[in-house]
Amino acid sequence: MMRGLMMDRPLMISHIIEYAAANFPDQEVVSRMPEGGIHRYTYPEAAARSRQLANALRKLGVEPGDRVATVAWNTYRHFEIYYATSGIGAVCHTINPRLPVDQFSYIVNHAQDKYVFVDLTFVPLLEKLQGLFEGVRGYVIMTDREHMPETSLPDAYCYEDLLAEQPSAFEWPEFDEQAASSLCYTSGTTGNPKGVMYSHRSTLLHAFSVLAIPGLGLNETCSLLPVVPMFHVNAWGVPYFAPMIGAKLVFPGPNLDGASLTELMNAEGVTEAWGVPTVWMGLLGHLRGSGERLDSLQRVLIGGSAAPRAMMAEFKSQHGVEALQGWGMTEMSPVGTVSLVRPKDQNLPEEKQLDIKVTQGRAMFGVEMKIVDGDGKRLPHDGKAFGELLVRGPAIISGYYENAEANAKSFDDEGWFRTGDVAKIDSEGYMEIVDRTKDVIKSGGEWISSIDLENEAVGHPEIAEAAVIAAYHPKWDERPLLVVVREAGSELDKAGVIEFLKTRVAKWWLPDDVVFVDELPHSATGKLQKAKLREEFKDYVLPEAKAS
Ligand code: ADP
Repeated sequence: MMRGLMMDRPLMISHIIEYAAANFPDQEVVSRMPEGGIHRYTYPEAAARSRQLANALRKLGVEPGDRVATVAWNTYRHFEIYYATSGIGAVCHTINPRLPVDQFSYIVNHAQDKYVFVDLTFVPLLEKLQGLFEGVRGYVIMTDREHMPETSLPDAYCYEDLLAEQPSAFEWPEFDEQAASSLCYTSGTTGNPKGVMYSHRSTLLHAFSVLAIPGLGLNETCSLLPVVPMFHVNAWGVPYFAPMIGAKLVFPGPNLDGASLTELMNAEGVTEAWGVPTVWMGLLGHLRGSGERLDSLQRVLIGGSAAPRAMMAEFKSQHGVEALQGWGMTEMSPVGTVSLVRPKDQNLPEEKQLDIKVTQGRAMFGVEMKIVDGDGKRLPHDGKAFGELLVRGPAIISGYYENAEANAKSFDDEGWFRTGDVAKIDSEGYMEIVDRTKDVIKSGGEWISSIDLENEAVGHPEIAEAAVIAAYHPKWDERPLLVVVREAGSELDKAGVIEFLKTRVAKWWLPDDVVFVDELPHSATGKLQKAKLREEFKDYVLPEAKAS
């Protein structure tokens, strides 16, 4: 092989903030603060303060490879911590403050965090938990002297005091681009959370890839608001790719309700906002009630779970806002696909465009996808066959942090990562999630989508909610069991449900039994808890199995 003769310059996160400072000196970073009020400064000031913080971290004894945790909202200080920690070769470990106590302490100890940076809001939480932390050397409270609270946290520093002592001159070191830069744990539904360790290289390549997504239109004229938290997969990469293109950054701080978001977006001319469906539900509800308008918003990216069709339609018809859907995972940095309507389809009727947007969309450059059957054999990308979705790419994990058990299960023989999603892919690359691998019903080697069945069932006017789980079958191994909550006053029975489904799904998909319950188990965020339902039905036996 003949080698190219180009410079072997490492891809470093510190380059991003310095590039933004040098090339977009007037561009603003605006934050709503937990202390109240709005803070604004420019990229050069963000870079200068990141350098001050880098000096402070060194003084605190933070070494390359050390983990520094954050428990914080989206603000400019959190942004500075992103750059200062990774810039000196340490690892920024963002923690979701809403984690259950046992998981919270587990990940602080598993990551061996040396310092914890914490917003005022979460000081009481950490005061309660700190006794469980094994190796934490100190806490930095992300505020100024004036707002510094009385605290029982041992070795507590004031963020602004630390910075004030330091010069803004700092020579960012250069090192191997494969060095770890940040760490985020995925909260598994079972077992302990698993650590995803990003690198400088993966972070920059992910940012380049997002910026290259055709039709996303990200550039210097954009004002970008990440509602998605910075403790959640690096706010989907927004804090890295926005400075690369000199976009304005607007951080919402702790106020994520519809009224606060509307006010901030209108005041700061926000053109793009990224977040999960729940947040948009709140925003649209507020707009409906108040009659307020979105003056500047052009696009929302909805991800993290499936974007409801009605939500996308409402954004467009009521507010002229283009809603796009993104699919991804913590393990993928996180963006995998985005559902954009291609130029050739933009003249289609609105309903047809929605058909495209409710799919999870096409892979961005740098993400390869394949679907396989139960034996790991590749399935065609014909829009019909569906199987387990596997991915690979330079911003996708090669292994969880210090977790051999999870690693043994998460990759196939070719090194592709198992997403745990079941999907189909069409001939033009559009991917559609059909189910989760643990929820799909494996009937005689063929797969039945529990989600499709549920969606058909709730189409019945007398069905309020439906869930499909697998029930053991002596011949087929698994068969679908449909659990139904009837609308009040309804006397719908099994025969009526089956009759309704007969014309809507393939015969072999028809549930073997229908059971009626008063309610289905839900999580705090309203998600149907299939694991719990399976637990509730663990002694259930299908009529046919009983007979045999
Ligand atoms: P994130 O951190 O982006 O929420 P997680 O790693 O917590 O991601 O969860 C990833 C899972 O969330 C995916 O495997 C998929 O099942 C689900 N998911 C994410 N985005 C979508 C989407 N747009 N549509 C359907 N499911 C989605």
